[in-house]
Amino acid sequence: MALITKSIKGTQDMLPTDSYKWQFVEKTCLETARLHGYGEIRTPVFEHTELFTRGVGDTTDVVQKEMYTFTDRGDRSLSLRPEMTASAVRCAIEHGLINDALPVKACYIAPCYRAEKPQAGRMREFHQFGVELFGAPSPAADAEIISLADATLTELGISGYSLEINSIGCPTCRAEYHKALREYFEGRKEQLCETCLDRLERNPMRIIDCKVPGCQEVAKDAPRMIDYLCDDCRQHFESVKKYLDAMNISYTVNPSIVRGLDYYTRTVFEFVSSDLGAQSTICGGGRYDGLFRQLGGPDTPSLGFGMGLERVMLVMDAQKAAYPEPEKTLIYLAPAGEEAVVRCMALCSQLRAEGFSAETDLNGRSIKAQMKYANKLGAQYTVVIGDRELDSGIVRIKNMATGEETEVTIEPGIVEALYDIGINDTMARLNETVATFEGLADLNRLLSGEEDGGEEGAIDDQSAGETDAPVEIAEERGGEILEEVDELSESGEEA
Ligand SMILES: [Zn+2]
Ligand SMILES: [Zn+2]
Repeated sequence: MALITKSIKGTQDMLPTDSYKWQFVEKTCLETARLHGYGEIRTPVFEHTELFTRGVGDTTDVVQKEMYTFTDRGDRSLSLRPEMTASAVRCAIEHGLINDALPVKACYIAPCYRAEKPQAGRMREFHQFGVELFGAPSPAADAEIISLADATLTELGISGYSLEINSIGCPTCRAEYHKALREYFEGRKEQLCETCLDRLERNPMRIIDCKVPGCQEVAKDAPRMIDYLCDDCRQHFESVKKYLDAMNISYTVNPSIVRGLDYYTRTVFEFVSSDLGAQSTICGGGRYDGLFRQLGGPDTPSLGFGMGLERVMLVMDAQKAAYPEPEKTLIYLAPAGEEAVVRCMALCSQLRAEGFSAETDLNGRSIKAQMKYANKLGAQYTVVIGDRELDSGIVRIKNMATGEETEVTIEPGIVEALYDIGINDTMARLNETVATFEGLADLNRLLSGEEDGGEEGAIDDQSAGETDAPVEIAEERGGEILEEVDELSESGEEA
């Protein structure tokens, strides 16, 4: 019986007290992707097994050793997705996403499944934030998704990570490389594991990311793909580096990155952090120009990345990242007596409909026990409503942080008082916003080319004219907000 009250090894529950962290991470990821033009896709957690054997590759560790595969009642072989790219491409082909203007940008936050040995940050059910950019052959696209991954990590408050990039070529130059690899491993066969002996014929590059120590040892001195790139692939890689330099994204070229999935071509990259003990990858991705064709779709050069959120959050914890505090209950209504319970239930509905988080007693407890509960909830304000309050129609709202009490009528006094509190909060936030508008003058100067000698900014008058417009609008909006603040502070004073 103990089995049914234990979650499966390598999985974890998310509790109400922790979920705000996940919500913050997910919101930040999706919002950063949105700023780069990505719309969210959601696909089923299970697919036909063949999608992964053909998409991810049947000689990869992921497919050979880690996939959860089962036969359903209709005798079909299905698998829980071990990653999202194959599903995303399947989805794009099925719905004709790529038949319209290209590129198409899709992002996701998705649970994925791999039967790996569980360890810190490596779960059997894990969550990936990822993006896929379909129909974008240019190296500028490689640089853009790398910068999106970089921006996401920065927005999450992570620092101290590094970016490693490599090119693993195209089918043309890889044929030559495979020949060199075969020659190299052929002479060291006795050191390879069973699986890699088979890989030697079918896909020798997979030996390089085999996790068996013996294979890793041999692979260390194997020929490197980067020395075999054809002219096109070399030029593509040089351009990617040029764009990254221009975007101020620092990187190192690491020729040993091959990524453990078969679909990659040309650019591959990993974001690595040392905050999890050993160096570990928190985000990995690259180009997969042949995958659409391989899955029966039209030729669609594409690329993407996946970010392991469990690992990212471990790094955030290690770096003591500041998660925004979850919102606590705003007001707790404590009823004494049956009639008061009825009134508090009605008041709670009314308050919630106005957008205030409100709670009341559901367990028939004493006022003292209720106050203890309100404290546990972290309620910012409490109101006790008993016979006396019902008779007079007047209650006292208690600020739990300061102990200060304010006398108001039950209706509409409680709602009005909460609105006043809300207005004061909004004012504080608006004041912060106004402070950031002071930076607009600098932005305006930069865009009109007055800064830094103005050479690059003032390419021609036309472009300067185009860029002026949004700043003017922003300034106007800044003005509007300032007026709003004035109005609010007036009404704030009145109240
Ligand atoms: Zn090539
Ligand atoms: Zn091996």
